[in-house]
Amino acid sequence: YKNNIIRNQSNLLLREKNKELEIAKDKAEKASRARSEFLSTVSHELRTPLNAINGITHLLLEEKPKKTQMDYLSSLKFSGDYLTKFINEILEINKIESHNIEIEYTSFNVKQLLTDIQNSLKELAFVNNNNFTLEIDPAIPDYLIGDPTKLSQIILNLINNALKFTKNGDVSIIAKLETLEHPTATLYFEITDTGIGIPEDKLVSVFDSFSQGSIEVNRKYGGTGLGLTIVKKLTQILGGQIELSSVVGQGSTFSFALAFKISEEQLAIEPTPKI
Ligand code: ADP
Repeated sequence: YKNNIIRNQSNLLLREKNKELEIAKDKAEKASRARSEFLSTVSHELRTPLNAINGITHLLLEEKPKKTQMDYLSSLKFSGDYLTKFINEILEINKIESHNIEIEYTSFNVKQLLTDIQNSLKELAFVNNNNFTLEIDPAIPDYLIGDPTKLSQIILNLINNALKFTKNGDVSIIAKLETLEHPTATLYFEITDTGIGIPEDKLVSVFDSFSQGSIEVNRKYGGTGLGLTIVKKLTQILGGQIELSSVVGQGSTFSFALAFKISEEQLAIEPTPKI
């Protein structure tokens, strides 16, 4: 009988504890939702006037201004571009962290996507005199089902960094077919550069929000410290894992593997081998 009373009392205590935990969890979720909504509203509100500032700056730059005006406008453009990037990245991270992001599956041509990325960044490669190459394994099926927008975002971020932190060097995108088991194709992507490299003690922390290589690197190259956070999170959402190896003064390699379904369009060209 005594044991029963003790058991009942401890059950009661346990229930109360659980209730308290539920309330605390609920409070934390509400606070996190409120924070996320606040961030999203502020970022959107900032974006509208910023678009006007950027647009007018662009128009004035086209008016062939005098040298001093040109300098002021260039600095305005630099700040406007930086803020736009920063706000967009904050919005993106907020969306990912509040689980407001979904994989949008569609059939796409991965070789075309990589070629388009290379073409869109040719000018940037030219600025730092980099040799920018793309190497695509011909065994990769043309049509895959996946999320091309997120894949582009990951690769664009990595290539932008590679081109930014490399001068007179080599930057390349390599895509290989890792495994092909109908109807799944696993692709391996590698973005390499021969740029400044990342110190060993920073290889993990560069993926943290607002984390940058070093004060000197930050001062020299600028940046928001959010790009790699987005890359890491997006790769995880797509079911992959971003890897980094780097040697200071020699360069860096970012790599990840992702699985795709082979699209019907591809299967129509290359039917599943019948045994
Ligand atoms: P940022 O906007 O500052 O480039 P990222 O999150 O993209 O932010 O990168 C974080 C830091 O990692 C950078 O500031 C830089 O120090 C380092 N980094 C990223 N990519 C490279 C690279 N390819 N080569 C050398 N350092 C890099």
